[in-house]
Amino acid sequence: MSSKSIYACLLRENNEDHCDYSSSKFYKLLWHSCLLPKWKIFVWKLINKALPLRPRMIRRGIMVDDKCPFCCKDVETEDHLFRDCEIVQRVWCASSLGIKINGAAHIRCGDWVKNFLAYLWKGNKDGRHDDIEFAAVLWAIWVTRNNLVFRGGEVDPTGVMWIIENQKSMAWAAIDGIKKGIRNGGDVAQEGSSSKTDGVLIKESINDCNIHMQVDGAWKKVRRKFDPEAAIGWVIERNGSVIAEDASPIRCNSALKAEVLALLDGIQQAKNRGWWDLHIMTDSAILVAALRSFPNSPFEIAAECADIIRISLGMRNVYIKKCSRNRVRRAHYLATMARKNGS
Ligand SMILES: [Zn+2]
Repeated sequence: MSSKSIYACLLRENNEDHCDYSSSKFYKLLWHSCLLPKWKIFVWKLINKALPLRPRMIRRGIMVDDKCPFCCKDVETEDHLFRDCEIVQRVWCASSLGIKINGAAHIRCGDWVKNFLAYLWKGNKDGRHDDIEFAAVLWAIWVTRNNLVFRGGEVDPTGVMWIIENQKSMAWAAIDGIKKGIRNGGDVAQEGSSSKTDGVLIKESINDCNIHMQVDGAWKKVRRKFDPEAAIGWVIERNGSVIAEDASPIRCNSALKAEVLALLDGIQQAKNRGWWDLHIMTDSAILVAALRSFPNSPFEIAAECADIIRISLGMRNVYIKKCSRNRVRRAHYLATMARKNGS
């Protein structure tokens, strides 16, 4: 079926059989879908009217204009912002789904999104993933809207299309990572490593991995202080000698978050410096398990796991291993010092 006729077909289906997806079934499919973790949360918020749209801000006592930042004519509601606005309609039409909006206004936007995703998921069996295109358009509308609200300026249609393409490639990288790259320690063990179930191989090539990186987060809830003290630290070694290290205080609400942020910063820095064959060590078994279970990682760190995988896929060798506390003691020391000195 051509994508242009999807919507007509969808409308027909709905008239016959009004939304056969119960809420619980829909959310189950949403959480297990290949959409980026941040999109899942965003779609959930959109459907549950939990996005901070302007009329909602006004009801909370924040004085803002209640008009749509794209057209500046109608009130900013979900229905208008994500579907009915004349400018947004052009984005939907220009997307590869070629969705023509006219005729949809009798369905609430949240149901419209649910119906569309549920319909597109049925087509995922043959590897199409039109759900990614659909969610990327929604996300790009939201990002562009936020840029207009917080930074001002005019709507730039090429900018919107660029966000859609960029976000789609991130989602595809995550899917490719799941299919090809990410294998657990059991697979690694067959290739001569002594580890069995304590690591995750995200990217692999024939290059040797002589660069090791230890990462650690330091996190402590301090009495009488509202914000916990937190910091991240990482140390990069080549053949046993330290070649780079860094630590910095951060704001975060849990030890696990500090741990994932330490890994994320470390891998980004290593990639920037051209060390693309990297063996990373963390003492957090939960973090390694979270990366192995991506995209079903714990919600709290799902977005960071996606970023780590995306960065890894642009490198040559990335293996992340659970190690003893002793093996990350230098990163732990740096993070602890940064935590104490930082706030
Ligand atoms: Zn508008």
